[in-house]
Amino acid sequence: MATTKKNTKSATATTSASKTGAPKRTKKAPAKKKTEMKKYCGRCERTRAGKFFGSNACRKDGLADWCKECYGAWRKARNA
Ligand SMILES: [Zn+2]
Repeated sequence: MATTKKNTKSATATTSASKTGAPKRTKKAPAKKKTEMKKYCGRCERTRAGKFFGSNACRKDGLADWCKECYGAWRKARNA
């Protein structure tokens, strides 16, 4: 009794003609080069380019709190 409705639309051949796009990779956004960054040195109270700072992996921005100059002076003072 059941009227089976068959809706067979001719499935067009799925042609894998062109797989567009490059392979998707979850690429992390490239971190800003530290040389392009500016950072404030809390010791000499200057805002300097990132290249003047050493790197500190513990820091969020990957840069040391002080510029290299200040670290140098600080180390010297310590060792003196
Ligand atoms: Zn400094």
